[in-house]
Amino acid sequence: MNHKYDAIIVGGGVMGGSIAYYLAKRGRKVLLLEKDQLASKSSGAAAGMLGAQAELEGDSPLFPLAKRSREMFPHLSKELKEVSGVDIEFINKGMFKVALSNEEKSALKNIMDIQRNAGEEAEWVSTEELLKVEPFLSKEIKGGMYIRKDGQVSAPQLSKAFFQSAAVLGAEIKEFTAVHSFIFEKKKAIGVETDDGNFYGENIIAANGAWSRHLLQKSGLELVVYPVKGECFFVKTDKPLLEKTIFSHGCYLVPKSGGRILVGATVKTHTFDRKVSLDGIATLMEKAKELLPVIAEAQWEKAWAGTRPQTGDGLPYIGEHPEYHGLFIATGHFRNGILLSPITGELTADLVERKIVPELDRFNLNRSLQPIVS
Ligand SMILES: Cc1cc2nc3c(=O)[nH]c(=O)nc-3n(C[C@H](O)[C@H](O)[C@H](O)COP(=O)(O)OP(=O)(O)OC[C@H]3O[C@@H](n4cnc5c(N)ncnc54)[C@H](O)[C@@H]3O)c2cc1C
Repeated sequence: MNHKYDAIIVGGGVMGGSIAYYLAKRGRKVLLLEKDQLASKSSGAAAGMLGAQAELEGDSPLFPLAKRSREMFPHLSKELKEVSGVDIEFINKGMFKVALSNEEKSALKNIMDIQRNAGEEAEWVSTEELLKVEPFLSKEIKGGMYIRKDGQVSAPQLSKAFFQSAAVLGAEIKEFTAVHSFIFEKKKAIGVETDDGNFYGENIIAANGAWSRHLLQKSGLELVVYPVKGECFFVKTDKPLLEKTIFSHGCYLVPKSGGRILVGATVKTHTFDRKVSLDGIATLMEKAKELLPVIAEAQWEKAWAGTRPQTGDGLPYIGEHPEYHGLFIATGHFRNGILLSPITGELTADLVERKIVPELDRFNLNRSLQPIVS
């Protein structure tokens, strides 16, 4: 069999883009196939927070990977700009994870202690200290945890930068090309069947987010991957209302370029529906006003929804198919796929190159699946 590609990637989200970039950078001949438009699903909808400490607690198995990925961004932002000219809008001003009740305050202080014991930087700020930095926040906030290293990027720009950089380095990218199934020869994956004919490669990587379960069923693999809808909206203000990202239980406010604030995000499990609901936006508006009362006067810009890929035990799947050699999977990054995209791309490229990657053992495809409470 004359293989045309070293790697065929299924899915044009941030994960597919990152894997394509890291493989192309190593001189591999890459084809990426996306059924719709690039980054039109979860990756284009994300808020872009790099919330290693805001989203994960110190004892999560994902924490070491998340921290490593976060550390890649300062260099990566320069590298992607040099290769593609695309600015991922990396901002490294930190985040406040705030408490709105005394219960939340003690829970946050607990998390802070765990993280500090694990050697992470985190600092408690009182309401007064918080208001000195962010004078428009509500005085009702009971202080918060300052996380200096949790920055942010523009999620659509990051995806774009990965695709364009991969393309500059020789990757071929085809939009509107749905992969229907894999082609196997004995116990080896050798290609994919698509709308546009068959393509052949030495390695196939399924990075198709919340849609992976259905495709992988065709290889006899039953992974618990399911969609979780999230809605967000943008408002615009004449003068900046926030310096740093404000993260709270059920709502975050992310200051973006052009005087915008991104407000997110709702959580609705087991639906691929991406319609924006009045109820979802109204709930977010109420929570946003609770944190930042003056946001009520901001100018409305737009709302959207995306589909996060969640797994049965809340951890991503990154590894090789247990039965078919050369078929890899990288999916299930739920709320942290933007943060985890560089490390996933780099380590998946290592797997494809047959390197031993012990950091990924915990995320292999054979692990026993414990249902999470959602
Ligand atoms: C509202 C919201 C806010 C978020 N905020 C953050 C945040 O602040 N920070 C963070 O780190 N993460 C955040 N996330 C999570 C993050 O967006 C995801 O974890 C990440 O984008 C997942 O990337 P992906 O490439 O796996 O999936 P996707 O972006 O969904 O990409 C999968 C792609 O595969 C394609 N596809 C599916 N099946 C096929 C097929 N058979 N053939 C070809 N193509 C196929 C799809 O069309 C899709 O484009 C947020 C998500 C949402 C929805």
